[in-house]
Amino acid sequence: MRTAFITHPNCRKHKMIDEHPECPARLDAISDRLLASGIDISLEHKSAPKASLEQIALVHEQTFIDEVLAKIPAEGLQELDGDTWLCPDSFKAIERAAGAGILAVDEVLAKHIDAAFCSVRPPGHHANQDTASGFCVFNNLAIAVAYAKTKGVQRIAVVDFDVHHGNGTQDIFRDDHSVLFCSLFQYPFYPNTAIENHQTLINSPLDAGCDGQDLRALVEQQWLPAIEAFAPQLIFISAGFDGHLEDDMGGLKFVEQDYHWFTEQMVMVSQRLDCNGIISFLEGGYDLSSLGRSAVAHIKALIQG
Ligand SMILES: [Zn+2]
Repeated sequence: MRTAFITHPNCRKHKMIDEHPECPARLDAISDRLLASGIDISLEHKSAPKASLEQIALVHEQTFIDEVLAKIPAEGLQELDGDTWLCPDSFKAIERAAGAGILAVDEVLAKHIDAAFCSVRPPGHHANQDTASGFCVFNNLAIAVAYAKTKGVQRIAVVDFDVHHGNGTQDIFRDDHSVLFCSLFQYPFYPNTAIENHQTLINSPLDAGCDGQDLRALVEQQWLPAIEAFAPQLIFISAGFDGHLEDDMGGLKFVEQDYHWFTEQMVMVSQRLDCNGIISFLEGGYDLSSLGRSAVAHIKALIQG
């Protein structure tokens, strides 16, 4: 598939406390491994534009947006929650992280590309309408989903394979039956969301220690039938690679081949359903070596689709 790699140098400017795992080097780990893999030249490299405040307000409450803007410090760091901070340049990263998804939607709907990977930070899937948490400020993916809906897309599937539950995305689309949200995650584990399921909400908790076989079983038994029945016109992926065996952030045992297999399944179902395309966002993934290898496996499956 024609696949875009969307990022921006400003996404490196968001810095939190020293030794924080959600660090600028994560983006370098992905870019370096892409270059080394040789698939870099198969990608269409695009620069993320700035999302407008109006676009961010498609999913976030204005009072919350104003609160974040007001908290951007002139110097030093400002704490948002126990594990998320803002620095003087954070908004420069935030607006590009959200803008990457806006560009991806425009490019896919214009049929210029079939898939996009948004290599951006800060991540987004723990942010809901009015709360930043878990390293996330605004929900980049949710903003892009809401933007796609303003462009006439009527049915959207969001699949989230980060080791942590995508609680922010769930909160935003819980009552919106035009969005099918499927999230797998280690449980019990942060953010310890109460498990809830309905027609367009599929939560698939996994015990610590689960591996690629467990991933395959739940995707084949729960997710693919639901996606087929829902027949989305666009598929979004919250691509968090912190469920990797080598990533100490969580206790799942996925490896690169599992991320490749998962992505292939999404590519195949999107092609069976004649979807417009697949738009993926970097969420977690903190062990730099396995992050780079896993993101490359994921992107390779998009290109080969
Ligand atoms: Zn995570």
